Amino acid sequence: MTLTVGVIGGGQLARMMIPAATHLGVRLSVFAEADGSPAGMAATAVGDYRDAEQVLRWAQGLDAITFDHEHVPQEVLSALVEAGLAVRPGPHALLYAQDKLLMRERLGALGLPMPEWAPVATEAELDAFIREHGGAAVVKTPRGGYDGKGVRVVRSGSEAASWFADVAGPLLVEELVEFRRELAQSVARRPSGAFAAWPVVESVQRDGVCSEVIAPAPRAMGRVADVAEEIAVAVAEGLDVTGVLAVELFETSDERILVNELAMRPHNSGHWSIEGSTTSQFEQHLRAVLDLPLGGTGCRDPWTVMVNVLGGPAGEGLDSRYAKAMAEHPLVKFHSYDKESRPGRKVGHVCTGGDDLDDVVYQARAAAEMVAH
Ligand code: ADP
Repeated sequence: MTLTVGVIGGGQLARMMIPAATHLGVRLSVFAEADGSPAGMAATAVGDYRDAEQVLRWAQGLDAITFDHEHVPQEVLSALVEAGLAVRPGPHALLYAQDKLLMRERLGALGLPMPEWAPVATEAELDAFIREHGGAAVVKTPRGGYDGKGVRVVRSGSEAASWFADVAGPLLVEELVEFRRELAQSVARRPSGAFAAWPVVESVQRDGVCSEVIAPAPRAMGRVADVAEEIAVAVAEGLDVTGVLAVELFETSDERILVNELAMRPHNSGHWSIEGSTTSQFEQHLRAVLDLPLGGTGCRDPWTVMVNVLGGPAGEGLDSRYAKAMAEHPLVKFHSYDKESRPGRKVGHVCTGGDDLDDVVYQARAAAEMVAH
C-alpha cells in the first residue's frame, strides 16, 4: 500500500521533500497557502492553515502529517490529533519551536546550556537586564520570528519600545553572546524512539540570515561534536520530537556550546545533506515521520559546502545567470525554489563537495555569486 505524508506549508522545505518522496515511493500531499508556491506541484489543497475545518478536510486518510513551517496554531494541531491523525512532530513538541520563551524555560528544566535569558515585560526590566549584562543584550519576539526578523541587539530598553507596544505578553531577552562561530546539529527521531545524527556543521549568518554551511564543521572533531550531538539528542528525547530536529548552537570563545534555537523540521543548515550525506534530511524526515528505519548519516565527501542564493531586485530573471554558472561550475549542484526574487529573500542554494576545503568554499561561493547578481 502506498503511504501518504501530508505537509502543511508549500515553501522550499516541502518542495525539497518531493524528490525524496518520489525515490521512497511515498506520496506527498501538500497543503499550500497560495497557488504557485515552491511546492505547488505536490499541492492537493490551497487554503488557510489557521482554519481547522479546511485543514481537517485536506487531512483525511493521510498516514502522517508534518510541516514546512512551525506556525500552525495549537488548536488546529489538536483538532488533527483528536481526529486520530498522526501529527509529527506532535503539538506538545511543536509548542517549544513556536514560542522562544517556552523553549528557554523547558530547556532550562532539562539542564541544557543556554545564554542567560529572562522574560521582560517593560522597558525598565529590559534596562535592568542590559545593565547586569555588560551594557547590551539581544531582544526577541517570542513568536513568529524567522531569518533574524524578531531579533534585535539593543543597548537601552527604549530601543524595543515598538515591540513592547505591539507584542502581547513579555519579550525574551538574552545576553549578547560573544560567539566564536555558530554551529548546527541535526538529528532525526522516530516515534518509536530510534534516532540518527548527522555530523555537526558550521553555519555562517549575514544580517541574521544563514549565508553558508560547512559540513562537517571544521575543527569540531572530538569534544565539540560529541557535546553538540548529546545536546540535540537530549532535546529530541526531552521534548519528544519526531522527524528532523535542528538545534542552532553558539560555540563561545571559552569553548562552551550554548543552544540558540530549535527547528522541528528540515532546516537550512541541513540542505548540504542532499548531496553531501548518505541520507538527506528530507528523506530522513519522511522516513522518521512514517516510523520507517532511518538511513545512514555519514558524509559522502570530506567537505560539503552549501551557499544560499538570496534574491536581488524584483523583476530580474535568473535563467541566463543560472545557465552561465552551470557552464562554469559543472561540479556544483544548483537548487532553485521557483520563488519570486526579492532583496534578501532565500530563492535557492548551491552545494558542492570535495577534499580541499578552500577549493570547495571557493567553488560554492563563486557559483552562488554568479546566480545571485
Ligand atoms: P530566528 O528566529 O530569526 O532564526 P535566532 O534566534 O536564531 O532568530 O537569531 C538570529 C541570529 O541572531 C542568530 O543566528 C545569531 O547570529 C544572532 N543571535 C541570536 N541570539 C543571539 C545572542 N543571544 N547573542 C548573540 N547573537 C545572537
